[in-house]
Amino acid sequence: MKRRDFLAGVGGAAALTACSSSTEPGAGSTRSDERFQWRIVTTWAPNFPGLGTAVNRLVQYLERMSGGRLRVRVYAAGELVPAFEVFDAVSRGTVEMGHGAAYYWRGQAEAAQFFASIPFGLSAHEMNGWLYYGGGLELWRELYAPFNLVPFPAGNTGVQTGGWFNRRIDSVADLRGLKMRIPGIGGEVLRLAGGTPVNLPGSEVFTALQNGTIDAAEWVGPYNDVAAGLHQAARYYYYPGWQEPGPTLECIVNRNAWESLPDDLKAIVEVACQAVNTDMTAEFMARNAQALKRLEEDESVEVLPFPPEVLAELKRLSLQVIEGLVARDPMSAKVWESYRAFMAQSESWQRVSEYAYLATRES
Ligand code: CA
Repeated sequence: MKRRDFLAGVGGAAALTACSSSTEPGAGSTRSDERFQWRIVTTWAPNFPGLGTAVNRLVQYLERMSGGRLRVRVYAAGELVPAFEVFDAVSRGTVEMGHGAAYYWRGQAEAAQFFASIPFGLSAHEMNGWLYYGGGLELWRELYAPFNLVPFPAGNTGVQTGGWFNRRIDSVADLRGLKMRIPGIGGEVLRLAGGTPVNLPGSEVFTALQNGTIDAAEWVGPYNDVAAGLHQAARYYYYPGWQEPGPTLECIVNRNAWESLPDDLKAIVEVACQAVNTDMTAEFMARNAQALKRLEEDESVEVLPFPPEVLAELKRLSLQVIEGLVARDPMSAKVWESYRAFMAQSESWQRVSEYAYLATRES
């Protein structure tokens, strides 16, 4: 045993092979030679900028860090399973891994929405604080355990924009009758405000907005919105993205697949997800700023803030929707308690740190 530990410690593949052939199966270090060929299904179009490309980066990290022992082939939405079947496919073990956003799985578990983004909720920075150091990830694992899934934070776009509108929003009354592509809790909020939420996959947003099937659409932010051509389909670009202040993306791993990994590969999966999680925030910070500059120079686009009374009403209605959710779903109540406590504490700290600093820098 001692000798084997020593050899594993030096890490030579040849030494390990020689060693494992002479030891009994199931001994810790013998499994390190095992090679895994996995598949990851995603909710994104192939190589979708920022979101899909992050999955390519994740599998590159896994392959390089594992010295090729963990190879994962990427399947974009629809290539193996449709976007909205990613959760079930990984849960059943059809594939080992998936990448998407937890709010897509509200049909399976309503509380999942808290682990992506909720209106007027945590920012990207705060989501990381809550998930890694505030008990959030433990709750997420608890929520997904009955589905045979292990979730990892694996990306965050940062605060999104409020969306593209074909008419101005000057008051709460302008939301009435508004047909808007806006999924999840944000959509329920719009409905309470008198509008009609529509859920469309990203690929259909441009056409629907351009031909007037919808009056407005939220998608991601300047980087993705410009790439999708949304600035050519609507004039008014509103901010901030009250509906998605810092959506976390997820990598989900089938529990049986996860448990088949030796400890070093488990650590590699964990660290690679964490790397992609922070890397995406950095990428969106840089590319959104570049794309916004382009929009500000575009005379066919007006970048506008939502009026304060509109935001105040949307915030009031958001709380109403969340209260309804926690009243009917005990797990949502449990998660919300943790989320809300973290947000209240973070609020006090943000007031004397980020808010105060950014206000000072801007003045
Ligand atoms: Ca969005």
